Formats: sequence, structure tokens, C-alpha cells
Amino acid sequence: MRARVKTQLELARLTRELELLNLTDPLTGLINRRRYDEVLHNELARARRSREPLSLILVDLDHFKLFNDQYGHAAGDECLNKVAQLLQTCARRPADAVARIGGEELALILPHTPAAGGMEVGQAILTALEDAALPHLRSRVADHVTVSLGLACLEPSGDIDTETTVEAIARDLVERAAQALTEAKDTGRARFVYRSGRRRSSPTEGASSEKGARWPEIKGIDNNLSRHRLCGNRELFITLVAKLLDQFEDLVEPRKYVDMEEDEATLHFARRIYKLKGSADTLGATHLYSLAAGTETALRDANDARIALLVRTIHEHMDEMRTSCEALSPLPFQVPSTPTAFPLRSTIAGNNIARP
Ligand code: GH3
Ligand code: MG
Ligand code: MG
Repeated sequence: MRARVKTQLELARLTRELELLNLTDPLTGLINRRRYDEVLHNELARARRSREPLSLILVDLDHFKLFNDQYGHAAGDECLNKVAQLLQTCARRPADAVARIGGEELALILPHTPAAGGMEVGQAILTALEDAALPHLRSRVADHVTVSLGLACLEPSGDIDTETTVEAIARDLVERAAQALTEAKDTGRARFVYRSGRRRSSPTEGASSEKGARWPEIKGIDNNLSRHRLCGNRELFITLVAKLLDQFEDLVEPRKYVDMEEDEATLHFARRIYKLKGSADTLGATHLYSLAAGTETALRDANDARIALLVRTIHEHMDEMRTSCEALSPLPFQVPSTPTAFPLRSTIAGNNIARP
């Protein structure tokens, strides 16, 4: 009798272990594709029943093939694992689920989270990766490992309909997140894109839209566009503007370039411009976006005179932005000071505009 009970207990233990093995990804310890499908289905069913929002973020590592080529597959695995752990620190609510759904593709299921909250998590991931600064020599986007993010959200006011099956809701949500991810890849990587549902609710109705709080008017930023892109999340908007101004300082900080070879300086500069373009896009800074895009073209054409002209224009434009931020009362954030010189000894400084 005792032996039989022991056997049964052992059997139960083994079954549990086997189940666990079937549900988690051995490399990262995240839930695997199979479990992800189940969690998504269950959470969406719950969200539909209780009319709660849910955000889904799809994550894909940028230029990961080049990472493997450069550092080897074992280092690639290690890197993937680090990114997975980072994602887990960014999604901390008990119901949040982080999954590995493909080779270097990860996903976050965020129950009870409207789009504005999903964007906050997305931004936190980008920032965490920037801070982690895992070296990626061959990335064309940055000098460290970056990811692209696609966000879609199930909004209780819009697309939850008791007639629609959970499968159809899931299909639509995943499709929108995948489209957003593709757009993030196509428009420059190292960023997130949000794709709202068919029946759009007003962007100002986001959960953290702080009804009544004024959306800061900043010169050069299209407020309708920025409000839409950021789902009315004013706090996120302010954070991103502050970061944009910081980025500018970083872009034109001449000391950064002093010890670099010309090629390295150009690459560094090109990456900064790329990043600036992405931020301008997210923020609805349309003129800045075209200036940055123009600079990229000029860099590709090695048109030094045009690069110089464009950088000077970016300088002036961002200076106006900065002044316009300073004029806001109360000041929503610390405004960095304007640097006084330009980088790129050979191209830009060579054109004698180093000191305006
Ligand atoms: P993109 O920025 O467009 O996403 O470029 P990419 O190189 O990341 O994309 P692509 O889909 O072409 O390649 C994905 C690469 O990810 C292929 C493979 O070398 C690598 N990869 C996928 N799964 C693993 C894994 O488990 N371990 C390692 N080391 N590499 C992986
Ligand atoms: Mg991929
Ligand atoms: Mg990839």
C-alpha cells in the first residue's frame, strides 16, 4: 500500500515537472509559445467578460543575425537571455506575462492595461536596453543591442463585443501588434509603434490622459499627431521631449568626436541622426523629422555642404523648441543647455561652421 502511494506521488511529481517543461522556454525561462497562446486566450476571454483593456507588445531584436555573425551563437543565446530578463523587469504586475514566441521574438501580455500604459512599458523597455548598453558592434541602429516593439490594445470602449469570439479578438489584436512591429522595423528600428483598433476612441481618452491638463504647446510639434501617437499620455510626452533635447545635446557634443577616426565619427553621427529621426517621428515633430531624414540622405551622398547646412538648421530648429519649452509655465522638465559647437571634424567642422 505504502509503495503504491509512493509511486502515485512520484508519478504526480513527474507529471508536474513535465508540464512545466512544456510551458517554459529552456533558454530564457520565459513562458513558451504554447503557454503564450493559452495565456493570451484566457486573458482576452477575461478582458472581454469584465470589459477591461489589455495590451499586447511584440518584441523583435534588431539586427540579431549580425549579432550572431559577430559574436557567435553562444553569445547570441546569452544576449537573448539578458534581453528576456530585462523585459521581465519592465512588466512587473502579477498578471503580466512575458513569453518567447519565436527565435528572437518575445511578447508581453499586459492585462488591465490600456494603450497609454502599454506605451509606458514600451518606453521603459527601450530605456532599459539603452541603459544596459549590451555592445552590438554591427548594429546599424546603435552601438548596443536594441529591439523594435509593436503595440496593440484591446479597448473596452471600442472593440470588445460579446458577439465576437475570443479567437477573432486574438487574431485581430495579434495582427495589429504585428503590423505595428513591421512599421517599427521599417521606420528605423529601436522604437515602438502603436496600432490602434478599427473603432478608434479619441486619443485624449487614454487612462492616464489627465483630463483637463493642457497638452504643452511646443514649437515644431504637431499636437494632434503627438497626442494621437502617445494616446494622450501627457507625462510620457513630456518625458520624450526632455529626452529629445538631451539627444540633441548628445548629437552635437563635440568632445564625443575628438578621439574618433573619421569613419567612426561619421558612423556615430549617423546613428544619432537616425535616433533623432525616430524620436521626432514619435513626437510628431514633423519638420525635425524631415530635417533628420534629409541629413541621412546627405550623409549617404557624402554631400558635406548639405550636411552642414542641415545640421545648422536642426540646431536652429531645436533651439526654438528649447526656448519654447523654457517659456512654458510651470516648466514641466529640466531643459538642457544648448551646446555651442558641431561635431564631425572632417565634414562639418571642415565647412567652417563649427562655431555659429
Ligand atoms: P531585424 O532587425 O530585421 O529583425 O534583423 P534580424 O537579423 O534580427 O532578423 P532575422 O529575422 O533576419 O534574423 C533573426 C536571427 O536571429 C536569425 C538567427 O541567427 C537569430 N536567432 C534566432 N533565434 C536564435 C537563438 O535562439 N539563438 C541565437 N543565438 N540566435 C537566434
Ligand atoms: Mg525576427
Ligand atoms: Mg530580428
